[in-house]
Amino acid sequence: MVFALNAKHAVYVGSFDPMSLGHEDIVRRGAAMYEQVTVGIGINPEKRPLFSREERLDLVAKVLAPYKNVTVDSFDGLAVDFVRRCKAALMLRGLRTLTDIEMEFTTCLANRVLAPDIETVFLMAGEKYAHISSTLIKQIAQMGPHDSAEKLRAFVPEPFVKPLIDKFTHRKQ
Ligand code: ADP
Repeated sequence: MVFALNAKHAVYVGSFDPMSLGHEDIVRRGAAMYEQVTVGIGINPEKRPLFSREERLDLVAKVLAPYKNVTVDSFDGLAVDFVRRCKAALMLRGLRTLTDIEMEFTTCLANRVLAPDIETVFLMAGEKYAHISSTLIKQIAQMGPHDSAEKLRAFVPEPFVKPLIDKFTHRKQ
């Protein structure tokens, strides 16, 4: 049996390892556009993440607690299957650069073959956040506790600042 998907519910999928201010900006804007937003933390078995599934679920939930129509979950496997399990008709993605556009375009086309009834909606990154990437955040966190805390606050939501510093402090020992 085929169930209709909810066109007022958008799912924002990503690795969120860590979540950045750019990601939060996309969630905030999505939450103002749709009745419900689910943030889906994708678990990729081929990547060795900095934060475990449980850590990401906990920290992302803390970041998004003020947004009343936003919930957080994690998933294994295909993003479109997760979107369907959420009964949402929309997948939300953020775009920063031309490289993002190229990658997202092919992913979007593949997803359309896999799930023709799920639309991908793209939001351009906020101009204040377009330069932020998880790779850059990890590089800043490696600078050590004295140098990185203030700098990290310009890139990640507060709940991620200390856990990021702790990750690299413990790794160095
Ligand atoms: P993925 O591993 O799926 O690329 P990410 O967590 O890196 O997951 O990103 C999830 C989504 O958010 C992607 O659509 C990505 O282009 C977008 N995104 C990443 N960084 C930013 C940012 N600084 N501003 C806006 N969107 C972003």
